[in-house]
Amino acid sequence: MNKESKIYVAGHRGLVGSAIVRRLKEQGYTNLILRTSKEVDLRDKEQVDNFFETEKPEYVFLAAAKVGGIVANNEYPADFIRDNLLIQTNVIDAAYRNNIEKLLFLGSTCIYPKLAPQPLKEDYLLTGELEPTNEPYAIAKIAGIKMCQSYNRQYGTKYISVMPTNLYGPNDNFDLHTSHVLPALIRKFHEAKEMNVPHVEVWGTGSPKREFLYSDDLADACVYLMNNYVGNEIVNIGVGEDISIKELAQKVKAVVGYEGDIQFDTSKPDGTPRKLVDVTKLNSLGWKASTNLEDGLEKAYQWFLDNITAKV
Ligand code: GDP
Repeated sequence: MNKESKIYVAGHRGLVGSAIVRRLKEQGYTNLILRTSKEVDLRDKEQVDNFFETEKPEYVFLAAAKVGGIVANNEYPADFIRDNLLIQTNVIDAAYRNNIEKLLFLGSTCIYPKLAPQPLKEDYLLTGELEPTNEPYAIAKIAGIKMCQSYNRQYGTKYISVMPTNLYGPNDNFDLHTSHVLPALIRKFHEAKEMNVPHVEVWGTGSPKREFLYSDDLADACVYLMNNYVGNEIVNIGVGEDISIKELAQKVKAVVGYEGDIQFDTSKPDGTPRKLVDVTKLNSLGWKASTNLEDGLEKAYQWFLDNITAKV
């Protein structure tokens, strides 16, 4: 990309897309095309085709997706598989028919088998059964990867796919019913502190382990790979370290300054026992995460205070 390239960031109001926009602007890219889902509904082929034909973007970051935590995925499986298949199919195909230069597709580490060895290497894709709680979402993401690879093989396109680990940061979803664990814990501990509630409920047993990547680091990696990587192989993006949900809860509790107890609600699902990515490939391509979890948590809590509590 050069600084004047026409760059479309699909999903620019979300956690990932907004971070990519911030990073591109910081690096001096001036020609960004952004559309809300009201302006262009990416599930609608005609709207997507019209948009691509009119705007003719050169580079596409495909960060638009229907996403959610473990309970949302369990309750709305049809929405997750349908919306994601439609969004990515419409965008990838329109990108091809309008001869864009390059596309980066955002996948997810839930594409890896539930019981795959850890850390998760890229070539574990399609070697075993998926975690049932988010299988429809994962199947859609796998279809997106295969679509990029197939277009590259058949049409000679340059579509790359990246698999970020669990993310957090500005513009995260803090709705307790649909969010992922980290923003949910920020909200739960904050509200319990404000209302002097003696304990906070954390779902599951607390023993599953997860890896958390700050969204600005992910965005930096995406821009880096758009400029420095071409290939059919998928690339994991993570920090290479994980912690248990119990340890995470203790860290969030400390950042928020809550003094009550943590209780585990074992009627809620644990999900996959561990999800840590192998970042050897990413590191060998020349990129490493730079925000540690403590600093990232401080920033995410500050964003929550400035943007969420200010509005309720
Ligand atoms: P996952 O990484 O796809 O399993 O999605 P989540 O981020 O939703 O959940 C990760 C782990 O955190 C699971 O073991 C959840 O049971 C656990 N967890 C603990 N408390 C919460 C909570 O308040 N919300 C969510 N979403 N997960 C929680």
